Amino acid sequence: MSWDPTRGAPDAPAAPQPILAGLVRGARGRCPCCGEGRLFAGYLRLVPECSACGAPLGRIRADDAPPYFTIFLAGHLLLPGVFWVERAWQPPMWLHMAVWLPAFTIACMLLLRPVKGAVVAWMLRLGLTGDEQGAPVPVAPPRGTGDA
Ligand SMILES: [Zn+2]
Repeated sequence: MSWDPTRGAPDAPAAPQPILAGLVRGARGRCPCCGEGRLFAGYLRLVPECSACGAPLGRIRADDAPPYFTIFLAGHLLLPGVFWVERAWQPPMWLHMAVWLPAFTIACMLLLRPVKGAVVAWMLRLGLTGDEQGAPVPVAPPRGTGDA
């Protein structure tokens, strides 16, 4: 089975929205197209291509979008707690920093990878496969006999 940007996953359920399925697969660290191959080769580095369907995942450049969405999510998850603690107990600023800075760091580290996976799935869905940025094409065997 090879990657085709115009088809859905072969084993996708009949009706669910493909974009949502792709986002969930990406967030789980799986290929957004087939859900079988791995998406990451490290903490944040993408595999060159899906081992199951051949989707060109490594050429997708998410750039600053995953950190942006990660900071947005972490802020909305933790800031209500910061404000609630401040209003309830008014702890000293050093205690806020000692508690909340590590909490934000841990939250961002835990969220960044799934957010990047979802962003990559979203980009793949939009057709942003790296061609639009002139990303280098992976080395492929030469076509034909070379008599040209
Ligand atoms: Zn795949």
